[in-house]
Amino acid sequence: MMIVMKPTASEEEIAAVIARVESVGATAHVSKGAEVTVIGAIGDREHVARLELDGAPGVSQVVPILKPYKLSSTQLRPGGERSVFDIGGRKIGGEHFALIAGPCTVESRDQLLDTARAVRDAGATMLRGGAYKPRTSPYAFQGLGRAGLRLLAEAKEETGMPIVTELMDVRDLEPIAEVADVVQIGARNMQNYTLLSEIGRAGIPVLLKRGLSATLEELLMAAEYVLKEGNERVMLCERGIRTFETAYRFTLDLMAVPVLKQLSHLPVVVDPSHASGRRDLVGPLSLAAAAVGADGIIVEVHPNPDEAICDGPQQLRIEDFAEYASLVEQAAALAGKAFARA
Ligand code: PEP
Ligand code: MN
Repeated sequence: MMIVMKPTASEEEIAAVIARVESVGATAHVSKGAEVTVIGAIGDREHVARLELDGAPGVSQVVPILKPYKLSSTQLRPGGERSVFDIGGRKIGGEHFALIAGPCTVESRDQLLDTARAVRDAGATMLRGGAYKPRTSPYAFQGLGRAGLRLLAEAKEETGMPIVTELMDVRDLEPIAEVADVVQIGARNMQNYTLLSEIGRAGIPVLLKRGLSATLEELLMAAEYVLKEGNERVMLCERGIRTFETAYRFTLDLMAVPVLKQLSHLPVVVDPSHASGRRDLVGPLSLAAAAVGADGIIVEVHPNPDEAICDGPQQLRIEDFAEYASLVEQAAALAGKAFARA
């Protein structure tokens, strides 16, 4: 249920509506737009239906939220406001574009720091790198773990770039939270609901990747698990989905970008690296993603992809990154966005 207050509603009237919502055991999510305040009453449907706030002082109208996802829905933002987050001084959302770049996995000090410096100098706004890796084979390299986190902390200290790194197991939350500015929930964990609730409670910004075969509605419902715990800073990420096509690794669903942005106020990021699995496709897909209105790109870059421990064929070479970044910046400008440099 969504309670739209009158532009003339007083603070007392708004507080009275919030108290009424809470009195039935629902949660009140207040968004103060430029014109009006909207209060989302989220909770048990039957309880919410008993609110009877029509005609209450200061209330303009009471509208049901029709979609199963509530807090992520654009319906809660009748003024059309987009979510904009400040991540360690770099904004994402609205007219701010985030270029998140770095290796697939942290391998060594030199590998990480060389990449971090190169991508920062070329205009990347955040550094990615996995210390805990979700590998198809249990026999493959699983990440450097704590040692990888220490190297990420060093790279952050040296370059000033916010860190994006993956959390797979809630037991690693504390050490990851110490270094991560954004916690990535990978495609394989998109529907790990206990993990989502936990990261919601931790309150750290989340990059939520779309599951390999997840619908947009399932992605938004997963985001809802984080938002429901009071963590508003969720970024959605399209990273390619499984289709019948075998000529490339996954199919990058670029249509998801404008559609997610119609359905949700949350920023939408595109991962062209994992979608294609091929370096030659990363450039064109990135330009398309930026032009179609993505709020950011997360891309893999490595000083020596031929010797990378994982995902070598898709990682951009650091010497090619500056030109790549400049083209992406031009494509983002076509969609009215500018790189969010510090
Ligand atoms: C990654 O970004 O390192 C990754 C493993 O991606 P995904 O979860 O999308 O496969
Ligand atoms: Mn990878």
